[in-house]
Amino acid sequence: MTHAPDLRILGAGPVGCTLALALRGSRHAVRLVDPQPAPPSGFRPIALSHASRLILERVGAWGGFAVTPIESIHVSQRGAFGRTRLQADEAGVPALGYVAQYADLVTALRARVAIEGGAQGAARCTVHAEGTDANVQERGYGHEALVARVSADPGSASTAFERFTAEGPLALLPLAGAWAVVWAQPAASAAALLEAPPQAFLDALQRAFGTRAGRFVAVHERARAPLALRVRRSRVEPRAVYIGNAAQTLHPVAGQGLNLGLRDAWDLAQVLHAAEDPGDAAVLARFAALRRADAATTIGVTELLARGFLGGHALARALRGIALTSLDLVPPARRFFARRMIFGPSALP
Ligand SMILES: Cc1cc2nc3c(=O)[nH]c(=O)nc-3n(C[C@H](O)[C@H](O)[C@H](O)COP(=O)(O)OP(=O)(O)OC[C@H]3O[C@@H](n4cnc5c(N)ncnc54)[C@H](O)[C@@H]3O)c2cc1C
Repeated sequence: MTHAPDLRILGAGPVGCTLALALRGSRHAVRLVDPQPAPPSGFRPIALSHASRLILERVGAWGGFAVTPIESIHVSQRGAFGRTRLQADEAGVPALGYVAQYADLVTALRARVAIEGGAQGAARCTVHAEGTDANVQERGYGHEALVARVSADPGSASTAFERFTAEGPLALLPLAGAWAVVWAQPAASAAALLEAPPQAFLDALQRAFGTRAGRFVAVHERARAPLALRVRRSRVEPRAVYIGNAAQTLHPVAGQGLNLGLRDAWDLAQVLHAAEDPGDAAVLARFAALRRADAATTIGVTELLARGFLGGHALARALRGIALTSLDLVPPARRFFARRMIFGPSALP
């Protein structure tokens, strides 16, 4: 006979797997459940922050998948003044982040945990890590993300680019000598670019981005992903808790969704390690309180970048220019911004 687990984690995505690994050695019997036996296929670049690296190191998964370090991030806007550059050494970290492929990361994490295909019986606490919940109200951006892997001449090294265009933000992440492109687009143009002949796609990308990353010469995988903000009102319910995308799904503009989700998983594990009853209302309330500031500020910064930097109006462009230039001229502000994006609220002075 199988006993009901103390803890049931629904979802063996990166967040659910990280929680399961972080709970190793705890007093709780844990079951990890996912109906999808195979790791996901398809191209999705993920920028992992330095803080995510530390979490993945602690759970023993760092080194199990390929990463490309980001040593500087260049932020600019198309057709207007204003730019800034964030540097790893200024932020006091070896790299601002690391670019990996989502499928590689999940494969490495899944190799380190046992996964069951179905959830049966009761548990003292159910952790929801099933990813985006379609029932949570969405605030759309009128955009989709067009994701592509592109080769350029010269190849990429360790600089990432974030460029704000009137149509939407465009990120270029270095990935093993190529570029991972995450390009927010109105849905119709994302659909057209997905199907466009390779040269037409490369020409459109070159026009939108300019020549700062060299000449785009080949496009490999291309995919589309919907974009919306979904934030669950409360991340706890009786004997249940929500983490990762199940709690909040963000625009990928600032590359924060998974990083925030990994911090959810790590903090939940620390709270549960100390708890007698993992589903106790006071324990879950402690976790919710612990996560409030990090989630609110990460969502706020992402929303500012996703919505505040949209639009081609001259005044909006000028304000963005002033914001970027001020950040460029004030090193402590730049350092603060970089560390905030890397560590969450623990970077607050
Ligand atoms: C184009 C794009 C680019 C992105 N770039 C970045 C980035 O650079 N940096 C960053 O930090 N984030 C990025 N993100 C966000 C990131 O992908 C997500 O935040 C992250 O995948 C969330 O992980 P998760 O484990 O919560 O959910 P998911 O990755 O969605 O995993 C959920 C898991 O739950 C399983 N599941 C579903 N239903 C059930 C069920 N009923 N029972 C049990 N299991 C179930 C699924 O099979 C899956 O394995 C990006 C997202 C997109 C779309």
